[in-house]
Amino acid sequence: MYSLKLSDRQTIDYQVRISRRARNVRLTISAREGLTIIVPHAFALSRIPSLVEAKKDWIASHLERFIAAARSCEDAPTDALPEVISLPALGETWQVEYRETPARSVAAVSDGTGKIVIRGAVGDERACRAAMKRWLSRRAGDRLVPWLLQISEQHGLPFLRAVIKGQRTRWASCSRSKTINLNYKLLFLPPPIVRYILLHELCHTRQLDHSPKFWALVMSLEPEYRSLVKELRQGQKLVPGWASHAQRR
Ligand SMILES: [Zn+2]
Repeated sequence: MYSLKLSDRQTIDYQVRISRRARNVRLTISAREGLTIIVPHAFALSRIPSLVEAKKDWIASHLERFIAAARSCEDAPTDALPEVISLPALGETWQVEYRETPARSVAAVSDGTGKIVIRGAVGDERACRAAMKRWLSRRAGDRLVPWLLQISEQHGLPFLRAVIKGQRTRWASCSRSKTINLNYKLLFLPPPIVRYILLHELCHTRQLDHSPKFWALVMSLEPEYRSLVKELRQGQKLVPGWASHAQRR
């Protein structure tokens, strides 16, 4: 544990984490771990105190916000940012790279090489999480919506449109107007369960309630639905913490 004197009245402790994947030095502040300095493994540790000293103003300004967040317990960020994101629904694994730039905001951009670059004020964990959730929404739009369309056509169950959301607990829903809402957190579930949820919502385009008639339709298209429903009860546990908390700013 190191410590930094912010002012005559305030000294804070921080920890140093050596990351195999980090390219640059990165500062993070979270409710669980406090101030953490993440450094590439070849980095000379003797340089850290002066580096942290130089970031003093930034730390002080973020610390106030962090303390305010930690005070309202539910609002406190509790999960560390990922270095790897697995999306079982799509059979994809993405490496995450954090690049500090002078920008005030944070953006997440991916290319075809399996890497997501989080760029900007990456010391702001909340902004990083928000950027990654926006990325997840785009990915869900790109991949889940065509999947929904394919099942829709396969079974002759047309819908009006699909919208990606980040609801806290609902995986998906279907409105009277046949608009289907899909949660980007579906990306963290295994493919058979995602397929079942897509099918379930498409069945609602014909039968809005959960009547015996509805379940008979589901049964006719997915005879194994009961075991999938059972598996789905554990679904929330598959969503990583950074992606599961509601975003409040
Ligand atoms: Zn339903």
